[in-house]
Amino acid sequence: MVLRIVVGLGLTAVALAVAGHRLWWLKRLALSGQPAPDRIEAARAHLGRDLETQATEVIGQRKLLQWSVPGAAHAATFWGFIVLLLTIIEAYGDLFSRTFAIPGIGHWPAIGFIEDLFAVGVLAGIITFTVIRLRNNPHKEGRRSRFFGSHTGAAWVVLGMIFLVIATLLLYRGAQINTGVFPYAHGAFASEIVGHWLHPLGYGVNSVLEVVFILAQIGVIMAFAVIVVYSKHLHIALAPVNILFSRRPNALGALEPMRSNGKVLDFEEADPDTDVFGLGKIEDFTWKGLLDMATCTECGRCQSQCPAWATGKPLSPKQVILDLRDHAFAKAPYLLAASDEEREKLPEAVKQEAERPLVGKDGGVIDPDVIWSCTNCGACVEECPVDIEHIDHIDGMRRYQVLIESAFPVEAAGMLKNLENKGDPWGMGQARRADWMTELDFEVPVADGKIDPDVEYLFWVGCAGALEDRARKTTKAIATLLHTAGVSFAVLGPAETCTGDPARRIGNEFVFSMLAQQNIETLNEAAPKTIVASCPHCFNTISREYPQLGGNYEVIHHTQLLARLVEQGKLTPTERIEEKLTYHDPCFLGRHNRVFTPPREILEAVPGVKAEEMHRCKERGFCCGAGGARMWMEERIGKRINTERIEEALALDPDTISTACPYCLVMLGDAVNEKKAKGEAKETVEVVDVAQLLARSVTPAVAPAESGPGTAEG
Ligand code: SF4
Ligand code: SF4
Repeated sequence: MVLRIVVGLGLTAVALAVAGHRLWWLKRLALSGQPAPDRIEAARAHLGRDLETQATEVIGQRKLLQWSVPGAAHAATFWGFIVLLLTIIEAYGDLFSRTFAIPGIGHWPAIGFIEDLFAVGVLAGIITFTVIRLRNNPHKEGRRSRFFGSHTGAAWVVLGMIFLVIATLLLYRGAQINTGVFPYAHGAFASEIVGHWLHPLGYGVNSVLEVVFILAQIGVIMAFAVIVVYSKHLHIALAPVNILFSRRPNALGALEPMRSNGKVLDFEEADPDTDVFGLGKIEDFTWKGLLDMATCTECGRCQSQCPAWATGKPLSPKQVILDLRDHAFAKAPYLLAASDEEREKLPEAVKQEAERPLVGKDGGVIDPDVIWSCTNCGACVEECPVDIEHIDHIDGMRRYQVLIESAFPVEAAGMLKNLENKGDPWGMGQARRADWMTELDFEVPVADGKIDPDVEYLFWVGCAGALEDRARKTTKAIATLLHTAGVSFAVLGPAETCTGDPARRIGNEFVFSMLAQQNIETLNEAAPKTIVASCPHCFNTISREYPQLGGNYEVIHHTQLLARLVEQGKLTPTERIEEKLTYHDPCFLGRHNRVFTPPREILEAVPGVKAEEMHRCKERGFCCGAGGARMWMEERIGKRINTERIEEALALDPDTISTACPYCLVMLGDAVNEKKAKGEAKETVEVVDVAQLLARSVTPAVAPAESGPGTAEG
């Protein structure tokens, strides 16, 4: 008895000391990052909501269960381990008394049954994981496997450890049944089966096996605890913490404002010596960023949904997080050293790691092509079961490259210059913003200063909507529909300027804040009741990002307003459009802002239209390739993203591909034209905004002119 107590508790003490030391080291490493007081305040302020989030995300496994088979396997394993905490208590109790039972409930047959049920559930879970891993073997499947780039060896070790936890559990319980000390008279069906197998060995052998497997159970669990904190399975401990401090409702929509030393950076007061301008080294990440890295489970769900990865680019959101984590761990001794003298004494390899640029072609932690491949589509953030904030990290690195290193794709320089000097990415100038109105046969009121309180909507046209030939057709369709519905609206005309979205997404926070402040001033003066934006990027920037600068407005997307007008009977689509159609979800409308239904409602209301969904739609929609300022960069690596998307659309043999974003309109339009030129798409296929379709059905007699004099090229 004494020996087993000494061995059991000795193993536990050693394992807890090793694991505790590692957790302490991880905490010190995380705290070597930038402060993030906003995360602590938000977690405190929304404790009730956060508990609910923990309940759905961690206990409920919400995101994991969206992937039905692996999700169910993970849930079975996770819930199993929670229930099996009871068996761990029993194992420790058995060290002190062979007849130990948990006080109060320890003899209930239902508890014995539940413990065994979840033990079997965990076994089923790990068998499923084994099959999934064998079928998704990265050595055979290459980039198509979501485990490509993950540390698969460690994953197999952990699966083996979980098996040993369950095996030793059932073995000691089976032996206990045969020695007559098992606390449950019946109900523990799996233990009874194992007991039946061990029964022929007799009482003496079973007595020995009982002790051996109780100690083995404790030993395996303690070894598992150590492996967990030294491997990707650290997420078992960190996932709830990471989710607690993640952005709410998620890290989609707005980008994080640029922070330095825990405060939002004010460019006018910034000090180049003490302030941090984006992410230029690993310690520029906040502790939450470092926590993200340590929490990654390497599941590859983000990678499997990334359009850049799917089209052969070097960007995998998972690999970005893993490369940052590996670098943070390798540089840790340098970061945690107490003095320069201590740093000097570090091994050469650590010093070299500390010298590595975070982003750089030769020896950088992250290749520049990786960060510039991101479209900010949000698929990674949407999928990540532990709420890692990939876009903020990628765009944070872009900020440093643009603001400090002036290193970004050269072709985007013109766009930034045009934004600064002319207020639009094409450099066409403010005056041209009114051109589209001259192509209508009714007058569009242009606000001059404060908007009349009787005017219901300020129509925010956007640069593309005003200046790009194809997008201008959408603008005219929206204006015509509003006019037909008798909705009072005004536009800013030449007083509108770019929202700053392309500047912010490429990393030029300085130009973004300049444009945003200018627009906020104009909007505050105009004081619109509601802004209706036709571009999802404008919609996202004004509604989600301007509040960071003090601009708070009610903003809706044109599809939301048009769907409402159809529902209210103010717009009645009557003309039949006998077409087969598919709808492409713009990332910044759908995934980032959850507007999935209104565009579909509009299409449903048009008589004759037969809509069919693409395989990748709604939350899992596939990007057109233009977001994240990619519209202004060449796509030199891999397959073009818009080509990949249009192929998916064309596979449905549609007459029309509809969307609700000027960027998507241009990207998909270009891709379909290429396909037509190659004879791979029928000549009649067209890409249109849902507003154009609705206008054709509602007001065929007054449909807006479909062409205009100016074409801006992206
Ligand atoms: S935002 Fe989109 S393109 Fe960028 S890493 Fe995530 S999934 Fe890939
Ligand atoms: S970042 Fe999230 S989704 Fe991607 S591999 Fe890590 S845990 Fe999985």
